[in-house]
Amino acid sequence: MSKQRVLITGAAGFLGSHLCDRFIKEGYHVIGMDNLITGDLRNIEHLFRLEQFEFYHHDVSKFIHVPGDLRFILHFASPASPIDYLKIPIQTLKVGSLGTHNCLGLAKSKKARILVASTSEIYGDPLVHPQTEEYWGNVNPVGPRGVYDEAKRFQEAMTMAYHNFHGLETRIVRIFNTYGPRMRLNDGRALPAFIGQALRGEDLTVFGDGSQTRSFCYVDDLVEGIYRLLLSDYHLPVNIGNPSEITLKQFAEEVIGLTGTKQKISYKPLPVDDPKQRRPDITRAKEILGWEPKVSRSEGLKATYDYFRSLPPEEWTRQPK
Ligand code: NAD
Repeated sequence: MSKQRVLITGAAGFLGSHLCDRFIKEGYHVIGMDNLITGDLRNIEHLFRLEQFEFYHHDVSKFIHVPGDLRFILHFASPASPIDYLKIPIQTLKVGSLGTHNCLGLAKSKKARILVASTSEIYGDPLVHPQTEEYWGNVNPVGPRGVYDEAKRFQEAMTMAYHNFHGLETRIVRIFNTYGPRMRLNDGRALPAFIGQALRGEDLTVFGDGSQTRSFCYVDDLVEGIYRLLLSDYHLPVNIGNPSEITLKQFAEEVIGLTGTKQKISYKPLPVDDPKQRRPDITRAKEILGWEPKVSRSEGLKATYDYFRSLPPEEWTRQPK
């Protein structure tokens, strides 16, 4: 029997590449699609020799043509870190809106089930803590982060419209900060920034007084949650993230402890609209998917540090694309 076919957009990115690995492992034929605007083919180069993997270099904001049938579509294409989406704001809005529309249209024509990657950023700077899926968010549409947050809010609305009006099988995952191998050191997010600074022997930069909180989910846990959600029959949004919350100051101290760097923390002014706290309420994921994170921060951090350390040192200083 021929394998079921899955399209993964954003396949050359951090999360997309891990999803490609997982679906190959589960016995699917994977079609990875990416325009490489923030991604890197090195994340999936180990898959090119496999018969059950194909790669399409394509911008999903333009019409998507994939010959043959498709069982699932996972739409993960989008710049994801502030440094990227502030540099390419229009592309970010387009991939969240036009790109999502194209993926939904393709899913409809192939009668495929589609899962879209939403984000905790749809909650903005939340007034409710921790964030349940019922919370509608506190987003500034015209602030610098609005290009990402509103694109993702539109993505959710469009996905629900296809579910309600076309009966499409849709899934929406609201992903909270995730980390692990294949992140980019220079993507501006706290975790790779701290590790990069430790590797280069620089002070670790904390914005504000470091009392703002984040919760970090290891990539293997996230992929497991996404896999379960896709196979479930639940169409409303589900938070997937790790509820273990930490202040950025404490987190910088953990990185200093892990890496053994002799450097200190240096403080800089807080960027505009930076969320003060972020923690998922994962009750829904627990009840519906029987999912909760398994990898501790110390294990995940060590695996991620080992990955970054294994890169050639010129990568530690590479500037963002
Ligand atoms: P990433 O930048 O590593 O990967 C995104 C990939 O999408 C890249 O390979 C990029 O080249 C590709 N891409 C962007 N625009 C495209 C387009 N128009 N056409 C084709 N390909 C395009 O980011 P990531 O961290 O892997 O994030 C993947 C998805 O998960 C994004 O949708 C992001 O919004 C979502 N997400 C990620 C996190 C996280 O913590 N990493 C949190 C919440 C949501």
